[in-house]
Amino acid sequence: MSVDRARLERHIAELSAIGGSGTGVTRLGLSPDEQRARDLVGSWLRGRGAVVRRDSAANIYGRLGGAGPAILVGSHLDSVPEGGRFDGALGVLCAVEAVEALLDDGLRFKRPVEVVGWCDEEGARFGIGLFGSCAAFGRLPDNAAARADQSGVAIAEALRAIGESGDPTTARRAFGDVAAYLELHIEQGPRLATAGIPLGVVSDIVGILHARVTVHGRQDHAGATIMTARADALAAAAEMVLAVEAAAAGLPDAVGTVGEISVRPGAKNVVPGECIFSLDLRARSEDTVEALARDVRAAIRRIGDARGTKSTIDVLSRVPAVPLDGSLRDLFLRSAQSVGVAAPELFSGAGHDAENAQLAGVPTGMLFVRSTGGSHNPNELATLDDAVLGATALAHALRELAG
Ligand SMILES: [Zn+2]
Repeated sequence: MSVDRARLERHIAELSAIGGSGTGVTRLGLSPDEQRARDLVGSWLRGRGAVVRRDSAANIYGRLGGAGPAILVGSHLDSVPEGGRFDGALGVLCAVEAVEALLDDGLRFKRPVEVVGWCDEEGARFGIGLFGSCAAFGRLPDNAAARADQSGVAIAEALRAIGESGDPTTARRAFGDVAAYLELHIEQGPRLATAGIPLGVVSDIVGILHARVTVHGRQDHAGATIMTARADALAAAAEMVLAVEAAAAGLPDAVGTVGEISVRPGAKNVVPGECIFSLDLRARSEDTVEALARDVRAAIRRIGDARGTKSTIDVLSRVPAVPLDGSLRDLFLRSAQSVGVAAPELFSGAGHDAENAQLAGVPTGMLFVRSTGGSHNPNELATLDDAVLGATALAHALRELAG
């Protein structure tokens, strides 16, 4: 398989220049920069004879081969604010390179192949993560188009500003339209880098529960209220945050995070009357997500009872844990082997566009490429050597499925 190292390097540089500064990239979903990224990827694909189209959710597809259900391959083109060059982008770059390498080898696709660049995976501006793939696979939240950013611009308006109709729900693909979905992505954690292995194969994507906890205490004078007469909402919340940490640590392949907290009224001489904090609970299996949520709820109740506070828990979103397709997992393990890598199976602690495809009944496989420097920061790095290995393994898988 002749992946063109220089071409891949050039494409990485060209794409990361859009919204790029140093090694950082800021290319928000539904922004003019994301649109420029789509245009660039579209021009590469058109140059190889692909039929390129955009849908009403601003996803871009480049299709090669004839009629029938397609093998879809790609990732997302947006980044977080002050993110890096590789999260999402590498999956599109390697998909383009894999297709080009197969065409260079003279392969004619027996099955259609579509390279996809998903729109707004990060949800950084409008708060809907996996936006483009949710639209394509019928998993958008109700009234998504009306969701507005901080300056009051709605998704519908942002879509119209880049030439779309403003109704992302019509991006939904017909059932049976997609035979399989393959996604290459940098690993966002340190497991591959720590193990010194360039590629990993994703077995499952974690289940996630997002919630908001409101602790109601009693607002009082910080000087006049003796310690035994308080119902301090923040002190209760502090204990609850530690309970989240302990609950997650006590379960296999589970994590729990409180990343936001606010106090009312928020004055140094007032005992906090109310405290609101976020909950991000994740685990590899549905059973464990449920067990973690149960443990956290019980701890919040117990701590509240002991401290005289009342709490409400509003579940904001719940994404099920998604085991990916077993035969595509095996295919990626063989593909990694074909480039000399004994790839470990890993679960993904981050959500991915891939879960929407799998949840819609499309057999889905994911390949991780080692990133040194983590992700969602300017230091994320997939070396060119690793990117070449990833693109070559992806081409191997594509040839088996569509060649
Ligand atoms: Zn990503």
